[in-house]
Amino acid sequence: MSRQMNGGWLRVVGVGPGPARWLTPEVAEILAEATDLVGYAPYLARCPERDGQIRHGSDNRVELDRANHALDLAEAGRRVAVVSGGDPGVFAMAAAVMEALAARPVERRGLDLTVHPGVSAMQAAAARLGAPLGGDFCAINLSDNLKPWDVVEKRLAAAAEAEFAIALYNPASKARPTRIFDAFEVLRRVKAPETVVVFARAVGRPDEKVTIATLATADLALVDMATCVLIGNSDTRLIERGEGREPWVWSPRSVEG
Ligand code: SAH
Repeated sequence: MSRQMNGGWLRVVGVGPGPARWLTPEVAEILAEATDLVGYAPYLARCPERDGQIRHGSDNRVELDRANHALDLAEAGRRVAVVSGGDPGVFAMAAAVMEALAARPVERRGLDLTVHPGVSAMQAAAARLGAPLGGDFCAINLSDNLKPWDVVEKRLAAAAEAEFAIALYNPASKARPTRIFDAFEVLRRVKAPETVVVFARAVGRPDEKVTIATLATADLALVDMATCVLIGNSDTRLIERGEGREPWVWSPRSVEG
């Protein structure tokens, strides 16, 4: 790890999908050593309070400003943690920090910067269900803040045709509540009606709700911003566990040749 003369550093961390026990010990140490926390306010709220530590909370849409602010603070000698939910490399702040860094001259890119993994929502969701992402899978961000919607539709159709299981992040928002409906229209054109679909909402939090359905029967009104949606491939199946128990969801590792 490089050292900066003035002791400043920048750590890009993920605090997991919710509960403290899904935050890695490494990230907990970084949060304890940081002088400054930078991030979307609800994620900062998941970090234990510390005397003298400064929190720079922001709303969700200003990732690049936030990344630049964090880089400036680290350059000035502060010990800065940039905080994402889940994993910082999955639709989160690591890419924003890289974007901000790439826009700076090379002489300013050598600061003491590291990225630290966290449990991503799709992993937490998959663990609840058994092995819905047990074969090849991909993750698609349904937010069209940073890419045109027709790119999202193309990728969805291609992933579905290629028989990936799919994890959908940011499936709905207040600004665009109908995104998930549009996405399902694309998927229904390509996949069979009985394709397994899971809505994993607020996994690991007190209001967790996991719903198993099919592409044809899924009630899209259940989907909100706290939901990770998993779409099976044509091999994904349910394993019944007997009365009163939800079935497991299994995407086999093997594919018939
Ligand atoms: N970096 C994060 C994802 C940020 S995008 C990660 O790796 O998990 C935010 C999206 O993540 C939400 O819209 C939702 O789709 C998903 N998400 C985050 N926490 C979740 C949770 N506890 N349960 C289900 N989905 C979650």
